[in-house]
Amino acid sequence: MTEQDCLFCKIVSGDVPATVVRDTDRTLAFRDINPQAPTHVLVVPKEHHPTAAELASSDAGLLADVVRETHEVAVAEGVAESGYRVVFNTGPGAGQTVFHVHAHVLGGRGLNWPPG
Ligand code: 5GP
Repeated sequence: MTEQDCLFCKIVSGDVPATVVRDTDRTLAFRDINPQAPTHVLVVPKEHHPTAAELASSDAGLLADVVRETHEVAVAEGVAESGYRVVFNTGPGAGQTVFHVHAHVLGGRGLNWPPG
């Protein structure tokens, strides 16, 4: 997939609409279109990177920004106290379907372990 075809690049640029929760210089947080919990927000770097693994190698500081932002989202959503889950699906075998790195922030209900 090229960056021109990337769905989350289009959300970052505003070409595809999304419900934005937080917007920083380097990251965007928006609601998942198919929420799996009362809070289900995706945090992405504005720059295109395919996976968390690739971003860890190429710009660990930007990955840290994304992780820091997951906590800001949890606070803003009111789930930081009760607990929340941060998931980076990495690779098709783990269920990654959009190859622009994103952290899922899930909360607002009990979350079982192990995940499916
Ligand atoms: P993945 O399966 O790659 O870990 O997560 C991709 C997520 O993107 C899924 O949870 C899916 O519901 C969400 N998603 C797919 N298309 C759209 C869209 O057009 N807008 C938003 N806001 N989320 C989307």
